[in-house]
Amino acid sequence: MLEKERHVLVILPHPDDESFACSLTLSKYRELGVPVTYVCWTLGEMGRNFGNPPFANRETLPGIRKEELMNACRAMNVEDVRLGGLRDKTLEFEDDEEMTQKVAAYIDELQPSVIYSFYPGFSVHPDHEASARAVIRAVRALPEDERPTLHLIAFANDTVEHIGEPDIHHHLPEMAKYKQAALEAHASQTALVLGNLKDGIEKGMPDATAYFENEYFYTYDWSNDTVE
Ligand SMILES: [Zn+2]
Repeated sequence: MLEKERHVLVILPHPDDESFACSLTLSKYRELGVPVTYVCWTLGEMGRNFGNPPFANRETLPGIRKEELMNACRAMNVEDVRLGGLRDKTLEFEDDEEMTQKVAAYIDELQPSVIYSFYPGFSVHPDHEASARAVIRAVRALPEDERPTLHLIAFANDTVEHIGEPDIHHHLPEMAKYKQAALEAHASQTALVLGNLKDGIEKGMPDATAYFENEYFYTYDWSNDTVE
């Protein structure tokens, strides 16, 4: 079950990360009246998709993705969106200490009781990993009893082998329409995959329906903290 948190902070690098990974969850928090702040480090300006059929190009993509991000947040009723101002595919080259300081400043300002972010070592993309490391470092620097809980997204192929099954499962069929709307808002990136999922639903494939009703997270295991 989803707890009624004091403040939920979401820290992810790309517009659409939130809609794929936690739009059901965030919509539910908002329905419960929990404040949610989303820090999105980049505008996903290096994205490889331009819509299907294409309606964007390299030049117009940043503006389009910013608009899509805002629309997705509206769909989830998330009002506090902070643009991190970093560039897509460059986070791994950012100064680690500076990224950590930025996360620390958000924590200091917002005093979140829980942070949603990527799981270091199991989040595949170098930007995801850089963001994940900064979150761990910033939270680790706090006294243990002041640390927000970390609910982390892991999707590398070897995740289960190393850290087991996710311990948090949000089954929220009543919020499925919000997840769908959030994903639809990111049309430049999601048109193809959404088309396939909707086909699946029409053909009665249980996986496709389940996709819109379930989200999974790991509570970070500090006893196995391997972030430097
Ligand atoms: Zn991403």
